[in-house]
Amino acid sequence: MARTTPIERYRNIGIMAHIDAGKTTTTERVLYYTGKSYKIGEVHEGTATMDWMEQEQERGITITSAATTCFWKDHRINIIDTPGHVDFTIEVERSLRVLDGACAVFDSVAGVEPQSETVWRQADKYNVPRICFVNKMDRIGANFFRCVDMMVDRLGTRPMVMQLPIGAESDFVGMVDLVKMQAVIWKDESLGAEFYYTDIPADLADQAADYRAKLVEMAVEMDDALMESYLEGTEPTEEQLHACIRKGVITSSFVPVFLGSAFKNKGVQPLLDAVVTYLPSPLDVKAVVGRKVDSEEEDTRATSDEAPMSGLAFKIMNDPFVGSLTFVRLYSGVMEGGSYILNTVKNKRERIGRMLQMHANSREDIKEARAGDIVALAGLKDTTTGDTLCDPNAPIVLERMEFPEPVIEIAVEPKSKADQEKMSEALQRLAKEDPSFRVSVDHESGQTIIKGMGELHLEIIVDRMKREFKVDANIGAPQVAYRETISKKAEIDYTHKKQSGGSGQYARIKLVFEPQEAGQGFTFENKIVGGSVPKEYVPGVV
Ligand code: GDP
Repeated sequence: MARTTPIERYRNIGIMAHIDAGKTTTTERVLYYTGKSYKIGEVHEGTATMDWMEQEQERGITITSAATTCFWKDHRINIIDTPGHVDFTIEVERSLRVLDGACAVFDSVAGVEPQSETVWRQADKYNVPRICFVNKMDRIGANFFRCVDMMVDRLGTRPMVMQLPIGAESDFVGMVDLVKMQAVIWKDESLGAEFYYTDIPADLADQAADYRAKLVEMAVEMDDALMESYLEGTEPTEEQLHACIRKGVITSSFVPVFLGSAFKNKGVQPLLDAVVTYLPSPLDVKAVVGRKVDSEEEDTRATSDEAPMSGLAFKIMNDPFVGSLTFVRLYSGVMEGGSYILNTVKNKRERIGRMLQMHANSREDIKEARAGDIVALAGLKDTTTGDTLCDPNAPIVLERMEFPEPVIEIAVEPKSKADQEKMSEALQRLAKEDPSFRVSVDHESGQTIIKGMGELHLEIIVDRMKREFKVDANIGAPQVAYRETISKKAEIDYTHKKQSGGSGQYARIKLVFEPQEAGQGFTFENKIVGGSVPKEYVPGVV
């Protein structure tokens, strides 16, 4: 069976944003315009297509990392959902690892928010090429240029302004397309879904000329010959500009910035055009590098159907209709439904049951998947997030993902023996889906302790335990496992006195904070130099 879409027309993308910037709304509009979503649902009513799980609907946030396939202008776009809440940065890392490009969504009023910054740095870490979408241009206080300035100040990036707003807030009626040098006006009668091109309004002519010049100057930096002819007075053609901008995006030399209002259906189609025009295909990014089994020797797999099959499991989730699904990014080769594959991390052979591609409101059974594809596999038993799946005749281990230590913990106590059994099954399943969540037993009290990345993270785990696994349990108060709010290198050596009495109540503790890479935070080491650490001990903030 041949490919239905050539690999150069694949776009594996993420939509990343601070919570509430409008990621869900934008995603939903994308699915609407790409024809796979039947109706536009309101996020706050919980009918958004990407929000699969009940908790997400209730909370109006996106916490899972599902992948959805849609099509735009002969391109296959796989959208890998990236969560926006700070408690789930680990899930963001997990999805960034497997995507080739991303669209960062900002709220035009709030600009670059702390979480946009965190996610941006994570995307830097994985060299993810990006485009930006300044959303909510219809809101009171919307300020496109302030948001662009913040991208420079806060993110240290080089924004390339691609569009200028025409009007703002409730008068936001259109935008200037600086590549075409035309105005786009949205039609009220189609609630913004349709638009037409017209001349640039006279009062914006000078500003448009200025920004167009900046855009062209940045773009031709990517091509010496074009730069030369531009300096001699020849403007590049639209096609040439597209090619230069694509090159600049793929090399992360600059970041094109688009604008709109997802909620009002404005600017999403041009954004989709930008996704296919500027973001990389799997062939445009570096081929995946793994290592040979039982050795540190590097092993590179060409992004091609002919190379031996290799893929990375990046998400395990429970589908209400199919059961447990393992989402896999295929880097090389061909994977067939019903075949045996090797999990090199667990050293287990696994048989693929069904193989599915997920669309906005349908699950498509497929027989095979090829290099660059994102697929959902049913029937895998031993595979957890981060494992490599490959051709048993050509084993490879792809880089394992790193999971930071959890920061919050709570005790969970089942109410009955039956609950105890259900709870251990639930926790086992949930830990398999989510490696940033840990389970342990306190030796002194015998209590089960669950640890996670934040209070909300644990709240959702507890909620799922109750809802999906019908576990009745008493839940303790959240305890800080440790805090990371530190700003300088420090080493503290002190004696801690236990609250309650008894002998041996002193512990000498040494806290060592070592900076990692600049701007990447700190590693934290907590050495017990002498005595025992009291259970209630919580390291303080330096
Ligand atoms: P997420 O947390 O990033 O997924 O954000 P949502 O898509 O859930 O949006 C958060 C809130 O902002 C919701 O109430 C949306 O209806 C609203 N919203 C999203 N896009 C826009 C927009 O373009 N304009 C306005 N005014 N509100 C929007």
